Amino acid sequence: MPSTATALQATTAWLESVEADILRRNPGEPEFHQAVREVLETLAPVVAARPELRDARLVERLVEPERQLVFRVTWQDDRGDIQVNRGFRVEFNSALGPYKGGLRFHPSVNLGIVKFLGFEQIFKNALTGLGIGGGKGGSDFDPRGRSDAEVMRFCQAFMTELHRHLGEHTDVPAGDIGVGGREIGYLFGQYRRITNRWEGGVLTGKGTGWGGSLIRTEATGYGNVLFTAEMLRKRGEDLAGQQVTVSGSGNVALYTVEKAQALGAVVRTVSDSAGYVVDDKGIDLELLKQVKEVERGRVSDYAARRGASARYVEGGSVWDVPADVALPSATQNELSERDATTLVRNGVKAVSEGANMPTTPEAVRVLRDAGVAFGPAKAANAGGVATSALEMRQNASREAWPAARVEDELAQVMRRIHDTAYETAERHGRPGDYVAGANIAAFERVADAMLAQGVI
Ligand code: NDP
Repeated sequence: MPSTATALQATTAWLESVEADILRRNPGEPEFHQAVREVLETLAPVVAARPELRDARLVERLVEPERQLVFRVTWQDDRGDIQVNRGFRVEFNSALGPYKGGLRFHPSVNLGIVKFLGFEQIFKNALTGLGIGGGKGGSDFDPRGRSDAEVMRFCQAFMTELHRHLGEHTDVPAGDIGVGGREIGYLFGQYRRITNRWEGGVLTGKGTGWGGSLIRTEATGYGNVLFTAEMLRKRGEDLAGQQVTVSGSGNVALYTVEKAQALGAVVRTVSDSAGYVVDDKGIDLELLKQVKEVERGRVSDYAARRGASARYVEGGSVWDVPADVALPSATQNELSERDATTLVRNGVKAVSEGANMPTTPEAVRVLRDAGVAFGPAKAANAGGVATSALEMRQNASREAWPAARVEDELAQVMRRIHDTAYETAERHGRPGDYVAGANIAAFERVADAMLAQGVI
């Protein structure tokens, strides 16, 4: 019998060889490589302890999507010109339930980005404990500057191709960057028209008047704040009174601000891809919602309307603003090593990811070395997909739950995810390491289901 240390070393070396193989077989996909590396780096203790997982090639199977769809989306703009975009859906893993994960419409979208998001989604969904597999999709279509009619025609063209792959027991998309309530409406309308089925459970994030769940819109931001509050509680601290920096000004950011303020924190920033706002009186959420949700404006418009307490900084980094708690809620790799160093220098206590993979690996290392509580996306932002699963449950039973019930279930799920990640990390000798705890707990859940389901 090899000693535990020897087994761990051998497993680490083997995982590195698996990773090298993944890099070779998936060239030109840096975000996917980053997401895989971050998971594989933490799995040695569990793979070393359970040789049957290695024998069944669970790791190699998990990193290979079950199905990858890439398709052309042709549509006509308002001038009558024909536009061609690329659509994607990566159906990554369905061991625990139908593929579940959002659609992103942004010019930066490519297959590697969709694969990174889909891979993360497998683990995130497993952590919710709610019976959903992992998938993700989207398009390089840029909704910014497009009219409502153009967005509708694009969504219809996108769904005309994608619909054949969807179904409430097969694959259930939702929103992500560039896909909110308006887009989900157009997508659902086209699905219904083509299939002649009112199949509520085929998309989540629907309007609350036609099958959507109360609190779904708020859930990702709310969930991340609840997760952060749990992390602080473990350290004997409270969110109330803390200075909070939020990045982004989309769906996740807005409801992060809302919940953080409701719990007594002071939120002073929001941002977009052009710049950020610092508001010394704290963000005026009503004005921000008016600018972003009603007028589809920019954070610079918020600053212009807010008066003396707010200043707009074009470019630059929102993480230069001193804070006790940082909640990145815009996009991947938005918080760099330099940003983490600045945050630590300014005394940050907790960083929790509302966006997917917003913190670079180097930045995570800086935060960990400084003893900052760090909530990884797959645990911290799982509230959105968890509430999507609750929406599917309501659709299946043709019920509409009151907001208080959904919020209560969301709070329970976030607490459970926090405790699972925390306790798993402790059990594997990595106390306080939520990254390792979340990865190992999710991996075991998916791997056990795959093991039980045979060689498929
Ligand atoms: P939205 O489209 O509503 O908002 C995105 C925000 O991020 C905008 O403020 C946008 O600014 C900013 N942003 C986007 N791309 C960039 C970029 N390249 N550089 C700087 N800023 C950028 O998206 P969501 O709020 O839904 O999503 C935000 C993050 O949260 C994403 O990582 C998403 O994957 C993740 N997430 C979302 C969930 C959900 O339920 N919606 C669930 C779980 C995770 P601008 O307007 O200038 O582009």
